[in-house]
Amino acid sequence: MNPLDQLINTFERFPGVGGRQAKRFAFHVLRLQVEEADKLANLIANARTTVVECTSCHRYFSKRQVEELCSVCTAPNRNRDRLLVVENDSDVQAIERAGVYDGLYFVLGGTVPLLSAPENSKLRSGALKATVASRLHEGLTEVILGFSVNPDGENTARFVVSFLTDSVESGLTISYLGRGLSTGSELEYADSETIKNALQNRA
Ligand SMILES: [Zn+2]
Repeated sequence: MNPLDQLINTFERFPGVGGRQAKRFAFHVLRLQVEEADKLANLIANARTTVVECTSCHRYFSKRQVEELCSVCTAPNRNRDRLLVVENDSDVQAIERAGVYDGLYFVLGGTVPLLSAPENSKLRSGALKATVASRLHEGLTEVILGFSVNPDGENTARFVVSFLTDSVESGLTISYLGRGLSTGSELEYADSETIKNALQNRA
């Protein structure tokens, strides 16, 4: 495969990008000045080595030295009795932007589509189960499920609840952010006021 086809092929594998769009991206790259193209290549290489996944909440953050935890997980003023489970990093960004939540997060890494088996998904379900079990001894009282208000989001919530039953028996409360959001809402695109209402009205 020639470099142009390889480039198109690479963009085609990006989430939400179709064949036509992949071609437009590839030709855009070809039209860049050499310095701009170098900058882009360096940026990608640099991000891959300096942006790492937090070992606790699993969101990506820029590390300064060798730390393994992000700034939210290490902040002393965060409320450690709440854990908000979201689909993706962009949900954390939207909630942090709203500035209305002071607990900790867990990024599950996606959803369980309604018609697929949970075991086929690449979600961090094992890690979530382990995190909840260990945090219960550190004062965790509530897990808030912050998934999209659509069939996939609801299916994911059912799946998460199914493997947290032991923790619920140990006194953990599970609440749903979605009950404060309108149908079809995705946290990622919600404005601050909507997120604030969703948090206040969670049930
Ligand atoms: Zn973290």
